[in-house]
Amino acid sequence: MKILVINAGSSSLKYQLIDMETEGVIAKGTCERIGIAGGKLTHKAQGKEFVIEKDIPNHTEAISLVLKELVDGEAGVISSMDEIDAVGHRVVASGEAFTKTTLVTDEVMKTMDEIAELAPLHNPAAILGINACRAVMPDKKMALVFDTSFHATMPDYAYLYAIDYDDYKQYKVRRYGAHGTSHKYVAGAAAEYLHKKPEELKIVTCHLGNGSSISAVDGGKCIDTSMGFTPLAGVPMGTRSGDIDVAAIDFLCKKKGMTMDEGLVYLNKKCGMLGVSGVSSDFRDLKAAKEAGNDRARLALDMFTYACKKYVGSYMAAMGGLDCIVFTAGVGENTPTIRSAIAGGLEFFGVKLDESRNNYRNDGTIHEISAEDSRVKVLVIPTNEELVIARETASLL
Ligand code: ADP
Repeated sequence: MKILVINAGSSSLKYQLIDMETEGVIAKGTCERIGIAGGKLTHKAQGKEFVIEKDIPNHTEAISLVLKELVDGEAGVISSMDEIDAVGHRVVASGEAFTKTTLVTDEVMKTMDEIAELAPLHNPAAILGINACRAVMPDKKMALVFDTSFHATMPDYAYLYAIDYDDYKQYKVRRYGAHGTSHKYVAGAAAEYLHKKPEELKIVTCHLGNGSSISAVDGGKCIDTSMGFTPLAGVPMGTRSGDIDVAAIDFLCKKKGMTMDEGLVYLNKKCGMLGVSGVSSDFRDLKAAKEAGNDRARLALDMFTYACKKYVGSYMAAMGGLDCIVFTAGVGENTPTIRSAIAGGLEFFGVKLDESRNNYRNDGTIHEISAEDSRVKVLVIPTNEELVIARETASLL
């Protein structure tokens, strides 16, 4: 069985064709600058990279281009579109409308339109991608795989905000979380690595990238997560503030003459590591700046690791124990100093890092970085969101 995984953004579209027998990637690539001059398709297959530069006016053209490359390209990997058994689409937010992977129908797409406002930066783009696929492959089965689904198991006392309950009921304002496919993948991979059933484990999964979120996974189920109604909440991130007293926003908006909308753009794009350091949102730049003596870069990194450590500790308490901490995503997979600052100094809780194990160069495989005698295992697991989307899509068929 072959599954095409699509992750559509407003001006980009990433894809992977996955062979479910081997779970290997047959081909993958990205369309960039859709609807903008200077469109580009980068396609990787059979160990080679192909770049096609041509304008891509819309998502339908992008999908057509991708399919043409998969079938007829210099490194065509399938003989016809019929070899694709189904398409799995990544969708950021589901609200309470969908709690699991869902087959695309007209009715489902109507609901998708209704909930688009929950993730205005992401869901409308996913809808463009789904509609484009439906136009080009009208008979193909398609699944929507939501980033929020893995968090649908949170208990009410964890996902609710202490606002008027009637407002929650009417407007569905609550914690939904994000990065669910990544948390799900690494929690499952950790159980497999430790030769345990997911039901036997209490795991804190740290997805640390440009956007970061931390989840508590008890017995294979998510019971809490750091992101909230939107991906603005939780730990400070590349450009996002993370948790902040809402009254401080009102105060800042008044002082800086910003509307609430402008205030939200400020919190999403100008804060976090970038805002604090004044250097960059990129953790590589921050590390370099700190090493060169920039104290605000040091401060930003300290704020990040301190916030992460607090989440790890609070989730230990929430689960009444801990068997494993997992680090994943761009920062989690590549930055020993960040891992050390978060998981170090927790010996009291049974977490003992082995710094020599921690200091390795990422090779895309699982690494155990806790000491041999650490009661809590600390693992670095490269995430694979596309594989989760493909697995979910295949199991729905
Ligand atoms: P997202 O998917 O949220 O855009 P990623 O998971 O790709 O983000 O993470 C991006 C972050 O990971 C960047 O801040 C970058 O500095 C960091 N990162 C990526 N690769 C490396 C690396 N080799 N060394 C250190 N940091 C890295």
